[in-house]
Amino acid sequence: MGAFGSYVQNIKDAVATIFDGMAVTASHFVRKPYTVQYPDRMPVRVQDTLPFRYRGILEVDLEICTGCLACERACPIDCIVISCEKDPKTRSMVISQFDIDIAKCMFCGLCSEPCPTGSIHHTSEFEGADYSLESLIRRFVKEPVQAYKPKKGPETDPRIAPILSRGMRYINEFAQPGGEKPEDEAEG
Ligand code: SF4
Ligand code: SF4
Repeated sequence: MGAFGSYVQNIKDAVATIFDGMAVTASHFVRKPYTVQYPDRMPVRVQDTLPFRYRGILEVDLEICTGCLACERACPIDCIVISCEKDPKTRSMVISQFDIDIAKCMFCGLCSEPCPTGSIHHTSEFEGADYSLESLIRRFVKEPVQAYKPKKGPETDPRIAPILSRGMRYINEFAQPGGEKPEDEAEG
C-alpha cells in the first residue's frame, strides 16, 4: 500500500473508532441507569434504610443527662466538653455546657456505652456538611439546665423507661443468632 492508501486507511480507522465510541455513549441513553441522583431522587431516605445500630451523628437528651461526665471521660479524642456545677441554693447539679465537636468525632461509640441513662446516643443522621468547622460543634445547652437525678428504688422513671425497654429489645435480639431487627425499628 502506498503512502496515499495508508493515509486513507488512517482516516477510515479514525472515523470507525469515533462511531464505535459514540455507539457505546448513545446506548446509555436507552439503558436503565445504575446510579441515582442523591438525595432528591431517592425513593426512600437513606437514613431510613440504615441498620438500627448505625452510629451516626450524636444527639444528647438533656432531660435525662445526669452530668456524670462518663461520656466526656470515655472519648479518646476529647470531642465532648461538659461543664457542671452545683447550684449553691438548691444544691442540685446544673449543666451549663454540653458541646460535641462533630468535626472531630470518629463515631466510635465509646461515649454512648458508659452513659447510664442513654442520654447521649447515636442517630441515623450522617449529613454533617457545613460552611465552617465552628458550626460543626453541636451545643446542646442553650441555657443552664438542672441535671437529671435518677430516682432511687425499683420504680423506673417514666423518662428513661422507653430507653430501657429499647435496650432490652436490642439485647434480646442480639442474643438470637441471625436475629431480626425489632419490628417497630424495621417499620420506622
Ligand atoms: S463517638 Fe467516639 S469520638 Fe465521637 S464523641 Fe463519642 S467517644 Fe468521642
Ligand atoms: S450524656 Fe450520659 S454519660 Fe454523658 S454526662 Fe450525661 S448522663 Fe453522663
